[in-house]
Amino acid sequence: MVLMVGSGFSLNILDNKSKIEAAEHIRHLSQMDPLTGLPLFQKALQKMESRYFDKGNMTAKLAFAILELEGLRQIREVHGQHINDRVICIIADRLSRICTENEIIARGRGDTLVAISMQLFSNSSINSFFQKLEMAVEVPIEENGQIFNLHLNAGISHFPENAEEVALLPGQAELALTRTAHNKGSNIVVYDRNIDEGKRTLSALAMDLRYAVEREELELYYQPQNDVMTGDLIGFEVLLRWNHAERGMISPDNFIPLAEETGLIIPIGEWVLRTACECAAGWDKPYKIAVNVAPAQLTTGDLPAKVRQILKDTGLPHQRLELEITETSIIEDHLHTLHVVQQLKQIGISLAMDDFGTGYSSLSMLQTFPFDKIKIDRSFISGVSENPHSAAIARATIVLANGLQINSLAEGVEDQKDLNFLREIGCHEAQGYFFGKPMPFSGIEEMVNPRENAVTFNKKYKLALVPGG
Ligand code: C2E
Ligand code: CA
Ligand code: CA
Repeated sequence: MVLMVGSGFSLNILDNKSKIEAAEHIRHLSQMDPLTGLPLFQKALQKMESRYFDKGNMTAKLAFAILELEGLRQIREVHGQHINDRVICIIADRLSRICTENEIIARGRGDTLVAISMQLFSNSSINSFFQKLEMAVEVPIEENGQIFNLHLNAGISHFPENAEEVALLPGQAELALTRTAHNKGSNIVVYDRNIDEGKRTLSALAMDLRYAVEREELELYYQPQNDVMTGDLIGFEVLLRWNHAERGMISPDNFIPLAEETGLIIPIGEWVLRTACECAAGWDKPYKIAVNVAPAQLTTGDLPAKVRQILKDTGLPHQRLELEITETSIIEDHLHTLHVVQQLKQIGISLAMDDFGTGYSSLSMLQTFPFDKIKIDRSFISGVSENPHSAAIARATIVLANGLQINSLAEGVEDQKDLNFLREIGCHEAQGYFFGKPMPFSGIEEMVNPRENAVTFNKKYKLALVPGG
């Protein structure tokens, strides 16, 4: 009986022990990468952090680096996932073997590895640590009868120099890593607050821009364009403004490049076109509107169809719409753009070459493309009467426009002297602060709807820039 109870008791102990061991094993596995057997980087960082503080050696640095294996993507594309995984395992093993007790290799996100070191005192010790890793990565790998060559890219951040908290290191190293792609020199880049945080702000701004139309933060301003000889109002250039909820008014020079980079310029450009046409269609006076078109809008190819649809929906007469196109749009894909531009012309709208004189200003472009107007860039116009170089360029451009029998418009006309000079040299139209700054619709309402009780344009378009928006 005693024996039975005793053996039952010890069996129970054994049972409990194996349960604890199994739980420990599972916990251990959940902290390991199943492919390489390396610890996951979050765990490795926690471990190194507590060792760093236990040692109390605050003159040392804790360095966190994300290691990217350049060449791995091509290996995967050509030889498949299996070889890709083998290569990662081989490199993981090589790097782990050369680490000292104060260094550790861990598994990062995607196909990256992570190196953490807590014994770095100076820049030269950091350099020798990464040189050691780099040399190990660059030894050719022989696998499956093939030789593979890899290079190391690394984004590094240090505690306490770069981060107030150890937990910030991975995010900072990631930002530094993105810079290796553009870096002509070293492929090992250390986080720099000035450079990398700027990028973080830009990506936050790009996120906000995605929602800007939804939140009705985008607004159109209108700048008068006038006849040089008579001073009469001819039309308006439509200029986009972003009234950001927290940052206030943001200049298009700052957010249009961002919209172009993220592709948001396509839906935003369409919103501008539709909103401007809808607005102008409601005016009593049939003034023209000139809308800026970004290079990406021209190259996507369906711009002519969109323009047709918008004119149909809004009822704006075709001859009242002008699109402003810059040279860069044309240079990027000459033949394709020519095709799109010809289709736009067939609709019956007019086309202006914007910022003339600032790009390549190829004369053959003016001959090939059916422009109705050349807009001389404002850098040549303000103070033109006192600057012989600007005056020569403005004069030559007007001769050219006259020869091609197309209109010329001078941008950036700021005072009477500029205007007098433009009159002398026979420029047709002018736009600039002298005639009026870009203003919201309320600022031009009197000009376009001069009667009393004019109908105010207040219809707002919603555009789905976000899923379900
Ligand atoms: P842009 O097409 O050359 O527009 C003219 C710019 O010159 C406007 O700047 C306008 O405010 C400014 N300006 C006009 N008259 C004067 C003047 O007398 N003196 C000076 N110093 N400046 C004058 P803004 O509105 O900041 O726009 C900057 C640029 O942003 C535009 O240059 C255009 O390239 C782009 N942009 C604006 N709206 C749109 C849009 O809806 N779509 C696209 N794709 N680009 C746009
Ligand atoms: Ca323009
Ligand atoms: Ca311009």
